[in-house]
Amino acid sequence: MNVELRKSFQFEAAHLLPHLPKSHKCRRLHGHSFKVDIALSGPCNPKLGWLVDYASISAAFEPVWKKLDHRYLNDVPGLENPTSEIIAAWIWKKLKPRLPLLAEIAVAETCTARAIYRGERVYPGGSHKLPPARLRRPGWDFAEKASRVA
Ligand SMILES: [Zn+2]
Repeated sequence: MNVELRKSFQFEAAHLLPHLPKSHKCRRLHGHSFKVDIALSGPCNPKLGWLVDYASISAAFEPVWKKLDHRYLNDVPGLENPTSEIIAAWIWKKLKPRLPLLAEIAVAETCTARAIYRGERVYPGGSHKLPPARLRRPGWDFAEKASRVA
């Protein structure tokens, strides 16, 4: 039985988006109560009846959370342009080695706006680029679309 777990966290931080025109509101210094959802997926342990202990997600995220909470994100190495998209990918990079079942990071800066990151797709052969058509297996396109929806 395959399952997905999600655990939500929150951090408070300030940022500005330096590459936007000066007239854009996000170019000005401002803050958010960011919400982070961390999703793991994989086979449910038949004996324990769970995928992982939720506490292990919290423990893995804590050192990452400390780098984000009550910070000026633009000062955090790797977050010089701290959009929600880049924050999600940054969190993924930090967590994936500690949470191999990591499936998705969602970063919401408001109740109605969030960015989702699910890692970079690695194609057969280990490349991040779409293989040439002659090398694709029959049904490959369907598998690609299914993985995007999942
Ligand atoms: Zn913002």
